[in-house]
Amino acid sequence: MAENLNLFTSTQNVIKEALTKLGYTEEMYELLKEPLRMMTVRIPVKMDDGSVKIFTGYRAQHNDAPGPTKGGVRFHPEVNEEEVKALSMWMTLKAGIVDLPYGGGKGGVICDPRQLSMREIENISRGYVRAISQIVGPTKDIPAPDVYTNSQIMAWMMDEYSRIREFDSPGFITGKPLALGGSHGREKATAQGVTICIHEAAKKRGIEIKGARVIVQGFGNAGSFLSKFMHDAGAKVVGISDAYGGLYDADGLDIDYLLDRRDSFGTITTLFDNTVTNQELLEMDCDILVPAAISNQITAENAHNIKAAIVVEAANGPTTLEATRILSERGILLVPDVLASSGGVTVSYFEWVQNNQGYYWTEEEVNDKLHRNLTKAFDNIYEVAQTRGVNMRLAAYMVGVRRAAEASKFRGWV
Ligand code: GLU
Repeated sequence: MAENLNLFTSTQNVIKEALTKLGYTEEMYELLKEPLRMMTVRIPVKMDDGSVKIFTGYRAQHNDAPGPTKGGVRFHPEVNEEEVKALSMWMTLKAGIVDLPYGGGKGGVICDPRQLSMREIENISRGYVRAISQIVGPTKDIPAPDVYTNSQIMAWMMDEYSRIREFDSPGFITGKPLALGGSHGREKATAQGVTICIHEAAKKRGIEIKGARVIVQGFGNAGSFLSKFMHDAGAKVVGISDAYGGLYDADGLDIDYLLDRRDSFGTITTLFDNTVTNQELLEMDCDILVPAAISNQITAENAHNIKAAIVVEAANGPTTLEATRILSERGILLVPDVLASSGGVTVSYFEWVQNNQGYYWTEEEVNDKLHRNLTKAFDNIYEVAQTRGVNMRLAAYMVGVRRAAEASKFRGWV
């Protein structure tokens, strides 16, 4: 039988398994198996050449029982309805894992920012906010950056929302520039969270970070900061990649040089001749493998060939369920996406709290709080995995889904 590569249905399967293990009823699964709300919008944009193009966007709100929904907006040519739905469900899980008073949300616009001018991107951003303005807001649903969106885009979106509502609304969106109420540490937060998970996982496996060989697939926001953090911690980053290919050097790559030369979309390998493919890179020798790019990278096809002792998922959905089973049978410690990549939303929460109270924290305060939240979440999930005899993914779903389930129960929904 062909492997299930559908992120939405595989997320549903694990949510079902987690709810059953926790003793919830079938009705609870019926409630949580898809978003409560899904909005599709069409955004007309005047292009630089004078033509008008209509872009399609989505906003999914999975479950708002624990509090407002929260999650990023991605601008990518492959955005689709099912993916946005699955991603909103993951946000519920992430918020539950790090114990934030949020449910999950997610948005996306089908477009390719690499082919658009700044003016066109600004118009898509503002048009998207106008189109979804009825269902979002600082106490309803709070967007944030995701794939190919950044603090400048958050700034335009915040400005558009503030104009519509006619009052300044910094808490409408997170991941903003510091000058507009952004938080210290937000830009690096996802990579910080992944780094914390790597340190915790390495402790469990008795691996010393100093000298450990690390491969990072993907050189975007998470992958590039992460490579730098690992390099600075004394690890040997032996492999990195972008959308076009990978670089591998058993003696360690010159990360500072590569960071210096990458473009704003994380492209770097096009400057080199001796590249490997992304698939080859995953199977190369290392101690720690971090898929930080796109989904369905480690599958039943290559899971047997992974050399790493630890796999930490910085991307959303990089490992299929079948591959998860194979890695766990092989004794490889897999830190799942919903835990490893929850640093971003954690610092987004800190940003929102700071916006709401109008009083701002130092970078040390943010990093301390992030460290406390994530180590606690890691220990909690590791413990559930051990005591319940399940893999880390199922354990993470069990911890993650509980808050939304309990909140829904107390509200009398189920
Ligand atoms: N897009 C990020 C994620 O998938 C961050 C979401 C947020 O900060 O709300 O976790």
